[in-house]
Amino acid sequence: MIIAKFGGTSVGDAEAIARTAGIVRARLPHAPVVVVSALAGTTNRLFEIGHQAAAGQLIVALSIVEELRASHFAAIGALGVGADVALVTDTGLLFDELAHLAEALSVLGDATPRSLDAVSSIGERLSAPIVVAALARIGVPAVFVDARLLMTTSDDFGRAEPRPDEIAIACRVHLLPLVREGKVPVLGGFIGATAQGVTTTLGRGGSDYSASLLGAAMEAEAIEIWTDVDGLLTADPRIVPAARLIEHIRFDEAAELASFGAKVLHPSTIAPAVRKGIPVFVFNSRRPDGTGTRITFDAPRRSVRAIAGKTKTVVVKVRSPRMLAAPGTMRAIFEVFERNRTSVDVVATSEVSVSVTVDDVQHLEAIVAQLSAFGDVSVERGRGIVALVGASLGESTASMARALTALGDLRLHMVSLSASGINLTLIVDAAAVPEAIRRLHAAFFEEAAE
Ligand code: ADP
Ligand code: ASP
Ligand code: MG
Repeated sequence: MIIAKFGGTSVGDAEAIARTAGIVRARLPHAPVVVVSALAGTTNRLFEIGHQAAAGQLIVALSIVEELRASHFAAIGALGVGADVALVTDTGLLFDELAHLAEALSVLGDATPRSLDAVSSIGERLSAPIVVAALARIGVPAVFVDARLLMTTSDDFGRAEPRPDEIAIACRVHLLPLVREGKVPVLGGFIGATAQGVTTTLGRGGSDYSASLLGAAMEAEAIEIWTDVDGLLTADPRIVPAARLIEHIRFDEAAELASFGAKVLHPSTIAPAVRKGIPVFVFNSRRPDGTGTRITFDAPRRSVRAIAGKTKTVVVKVRSPRMLAAPGTMRAIFEVFERNRTSVDVVATSEVSVSVTVDDVQHLEAIVAQLSAFGDVSVERGRGIVALVGASLGESTASMARALTALGDLRLHMVSLSASGINLTLIVDAAAVPEAIRRLHAAFFEEAAE
């Protein structure tokens, strides 16, 4: 049994959905469970609906509802499944639900994470039945499964924490019998529900995470992530057109790349696969015959495998000439981040200061207030992170020297080489991230490198 997850562009319109259906049919001998994202662009539009409605712009919100209704029915029509009465009725009902939600938000004048989850989950609730119909049309015995039955999560709306044990039980009850009967279950990624049945989401890009959670729960042979690029590349091809395909990469390297901005994988995707030792593949749904990328424990070690980067990084610096050296101070500082449920990416310390970077600024004000008990706190916005990732990066300083030389005159705010030596992270100005990635890529992959 395998999990095959198809991202937004792989189900972007009728043509893409038909291509995806063909890929699933070709995988029938592997007993696929299919996870799909919303149609490309839909989730962004759903968030706009939520925000516009809450801001009192109901007409604008409803016009986006109608635009999405039109694009979804256009896909249904072009796929030749418009005669499927249940599909057409259910799709219509979901758009009515969406319009009601928009009206309710405009009355409330406020979009809470919980109500935004109700709105944004509709993209995957719409796409999965359309993919089922497209599969049925080409003779694949597909069945729709409501992901909310399986994906039990915490009630942290907008970034709900999945409950793997409960998910595994639900999969045995609801999914396994279907697979045993030779059916192809199709479910929406990204969405889940609390134990009380309230809809949640796993955060943006979360369908990859849904796929790996299901893969772990079902002890799948493989988790396949089908997307719009040939696999994991040595850099984001939108920044570095010369980026090369990585055919085989280690779990730890892929996890670092994902958490430092390689959007092709949601940052949490790798962990469930690692726990069960399930290989993860990344394939291009536009070129299904490509080799793709294989992610396992045992890829050969390289000093630099790939480069990732992200913007929107904030550096928080605490300075105190007296306290930082005292035992327990570091723990107390990190507890502030923990209490405010904010994860820290990169850390650098000196005798008198500690600098950390965070992505999530939701609780920044409270964090700064609580940290001021330890010394002077400063916040630097507008930073970005560039990470050089390779399993044997730390074994020699040659790569570090080459990286610093390649960056040339770009201003560096922080540098961190982890003890296990798998990544070198560089904090630069957010605006300099693409240029830093290009320079590093040129130095490590385009000149006579390695
Ligand atoms: P999907 O909708 O299939 O989930 P995403 O847009 O989330 O697709 O992720 C695919 C995109 O990730 C690619 O189009 C590419 O621009 C971007 N990306 C960033 N870094 C990398 C990388 N190292 N390798 C491949 N793609 C990357
Ligand atoms: N549709 C969701 C998003 O756009 C989840 C995903 O595509 O992975 O964030
Ligand atoms: Mg994605």
